[in-house]
Parts: sequence; structure tokens; C-alpha cells
Amino acid sequence: MEANQFKAFGKEMIDYVAGYLENIRDRRVVPTVEPGYLRPLIPEKAPEKPDKWEDVMADIERVIMPGVTHWHSPRFHAYFPTGNSYPAIVADILSGAIACIGFTWIASPACTELEVVMLDWLGKMLGLPEEFLACSGGKGGGVIQGTASEATLVALLGAKARAIARVKKEQPEMSDADIVSKLVGYTSSQSHSSVERAGLLGGVKLRSLLPDETNRLRGETLENAIKEDLDAGLIPFYAVNTLGTTSSCTFDRLDELGPVCNEYNVWLHIDAAYAGSAFICPEYSVTINDFFQIFDEGHRTSGLLQLQPPQMVAGELRLFRHVAEGPSWLVNAFNVDPLYLKHEQQGSAPDYRHWQIPLGRRFRALKLWFVLRLFGVENLQAHIRKQIELAHYFESLVRSDDRFEITEEVIMGLVCFRLRGSNETNEAFLKRLNGRGAIHLVPSKIRDVYFLRLAVCSRMTEKSDIDISWKEVKETADELLAKNHC
Ligand code: PLP
Repeated sequence: MEANQFKAFGKEMIDYVAGYLENIRDRRVVPTVEPGYLRPLIPEKAPEKPDKWEDVMADIERVIMPGVTHWHSPRFHAYFPTGNSYPAIVADILSGAIACIGFTWIASPACTELEVVMLDWLGKMLGLPEEFLACSGGKGGGVIQGTASEATLVALLGAKARAIARVKKEQPEMSDADIVSKLVGYTSSQSHSSVERAGLLGGVKLRSLLPDETNRLRGETLENAIKEDLDAGLIPFYAVNTLGTTSSCTFDRLDELGPVCNEYNVWLHIDAAYAGSAFICPEYSVTINDFFQIFDEGHRTSGLLQLQPPQMVAGELRLFRHVAEGPSWLVNAFNVDPLYLKHEQQGSAPDYRHWQIPLGRRFRALKLWFVLRLFGVENLQAHIRKQIELAHYFESLVRSDDRFEITEEVIMGLVCFRLRGSNETNEAFLKRLNGRGAIHLVPSKIRDVYFLRLAVCSRMTEKSDIDISWKEVKETADELLAKNHC
């Protein structure tokens, strides 16, 4: 493909993408295709001679769109939102053109340097204390990880390395294997499954603790578990605090868990994969700032903390900061330094390959730069507030109908609700609701109570969209309850 063809293809694609997103409401939110639908639609082998780009364009509607779940449709209420915006899409084009693999500073200085500054911008938007920022000149700084799962695993591996080093210093006769066999981390039964997975991948024990009756993990529960394990000769080293659980967007008691981790020298990982983006609004950043104060004014400064606030319009972002004095555990934990990756400026700027699992990394900070500049903080805050308002609007509609109940406090853009009645009734209800094809929700279950989750996902969602979703919910209930009475 030559540049002139690229320009024509690219322009057509931009038009297509804009049309797709502007008219996304007209599409059925979840496709009706069966597994294996795609293979018969395309040739069995790659073409020997090049196809025309016009033919590729034509195949998007024929081959791809019938099998697309439209995550950015205002009718999509499943899981949690994923970021998307026009500036982010344009940034991806530029990132695709530069197509560097920015594992070290010299591999593409702009790739590293823009990320360092963007994560400082984000840290300031979140109201993080100075020492979390690279510009403070200390050990602080952020990094963009590919996914929340990776961020949790990286934190766990860093915490593991740190615990091994600490114990070896105190008890040099212990082998690494002995120490690892005694390490124990803590999570809540409401934490995301990626936490359990991080424990499996990291080869350490993780204890799943029970939250209180409002589904929040409490400091006392963590402290009791730590004491029990210390008595049994184990080594507590890592704990996960979720701010915005996947099932119900519940906030663990950071104000209680933080001081316990500080007291027992346990690395605290904060998983704010969904709710973290709301912390750019001052009214939602209160919890986290209170915690920072507690944490930083504590007697020890050797605790470590990682925060992952990814659901910005830009996509996935993870931020972390070392509170520890001494070596930076993550960088040391993952540091292998072959000759071909060395460069003369080593040590004077971050080499992000040490901060993550893969070696290679895309120029993802461009996305953040474009989004932050082209929306501005005020618009991003307004977007978050609007999504939360829309969730409260849906909540008010649910509360206005006695057949339904709200099962969790609505704090962010997620409403957990159910028909009054059995789990079976609610399972049948969701099946019927999703089966109508107009909107899409997924369920969850806490303490054996099955409920539906309605997340406000699309950045294009308006009040009129919520009215449509509510109409679907109401009509489905009418249908189901009429059928049950027959
Ligand atoms: N943590 C929480 C609270 C989540 O809700 C999710 C996904 O929804 C994850 C972690 C895992 O996210 P990822 O797909 O980025 O690994």
C-alpha cells in the first residue's frame, strides 16, 4: 500500500468509525451469531495476491460487525466501562505509526518521558501527595500497565521480592524456598478473581478473608488473620484493598486496612480498577487522601502502596509509588540486564521494562496526552459526575417500582438491583431481559443472593438512554410476572 492509498483508506476508516459510534444505538447490543460463525465467511487461506482495501472495508459489515458486542453502546450495561473517545482513537493512529517498542529510555526517549510526565499529571489530578510523583525527585512515579491483572501481579511480585530480602536480612540461614513457603497474602472474598490468579502465578499463599455484612473488608479481620499467621510461623507480606469491587462497587475500609498494613509491614495494593478514575473529582478523592495521611504520618515508611485507576477515557492506566526507603523493589525484582539492552543514559531516566512483565511496550502515553489535553480535567470530571448521576437516576426509577429492590448502596456508576423474590425468578428475569436484545446486563451473587448489575458504560449515555433501559427492565418484568401468574 502506498501513501496515497493509505490516505484514502484511512479517511474512509475515520468516516466509518465516526458513523459507527454516532449510530451505535441502532445496533443490537449483543450479536446473535453462534460459535464458529466467522470461518465460513472468509477464505480458508491468506490471499496469494493482495486484496483491494475497498474489499476489506466492505467486509467489516459483512464479517466483523455481525459478531461484535457493542461495548460503547448506551444499551451496554455489563461488566464495567472501558475507555474510548475520539482523541484516544487518533492517538492510537499516531502510536501505530511510530510503532516503537519503548522498553528502555533510548529505545524511544519520548515514549518514556511522556509517560513519566503524564503519570505525574494524572497523580496531580488524583490529588496524590508530592512524593508519589516523579517530579518530586524522590522514588515516586507512575507507569501504565497493560491490564489491572498485570498491575496486581507486578505488585505481588514486588512485595514478594521485598519480603524475601527483609527476612533474609533478619534470618540469613533461611533459603529463598523456605521463605516463599511461609509467605502469606490477604484478599477479600469480594476481590476480583485476578487477585487469586496473581497468587497462583506468583506461587504464594493468599488467604481470602470474609468482608463484613456490608461487603467491606475490615481492619480487624485483616489484623486477626495476620496475628493468627504470625503465631503459626508464617510471614504476612501483601494485602489487597479493593475500592470499587467488581460485583457491587463496594469500598473496603482503607482507613482501617492501611494502618494495619503499616503496623505489620505488609505491602498494601489498592485495586481501584473501576472506581479509581472518579478520584479525579475532589468529592470522591476524600477516602484516598485520608488514607495517604494516615499512611504517611505512620511511624514506619517501609510500607508500599500501589493504586490502579484505569478507567479514564484514555483506557488503562496504573499508578504506583514506593513509600519505602532504600531500593525500589519493583525495579530490583525484575532487573535482568543483558548487554543488548544497556545504554549510556541508564539510571538517569526510568527504563520501564523493569516495571512490568513484558519487555516491549507501546507508546500508550500518547493516548493520555491527547485525552487530557483535548477534554481538559473539567470535562473529565463532568463526565464522571454525569455517569454517577445517571446511575442514581436509574436507581430512583427502580425504587419507584415496588416489585424491585436495590441490593447495594449506589456510590459510582453501578446499580445492583433485583426483583423481589427468589434467585430463580431473577435468573429467568435476566435471561428474558438479555434475550430481548435491546440492552445487556450481567448478574452477580453475594451471599447466595442473585442480583443484576446495571453499569452506566458508554460515554454517550444520556438520560433518554436510561429511560429506554428502564422501559426494557419494566416491560420484561411485566412479561415475566404475567407469565408466572398464568
Ligand atoms: N480489578 C477489578 C476491581 C476489576 O473490576 C477488574 C475487571 O473488571 C479487574 C481487576 C481486572 O481487570 P483487567 O481486565 O484489566 O485485568
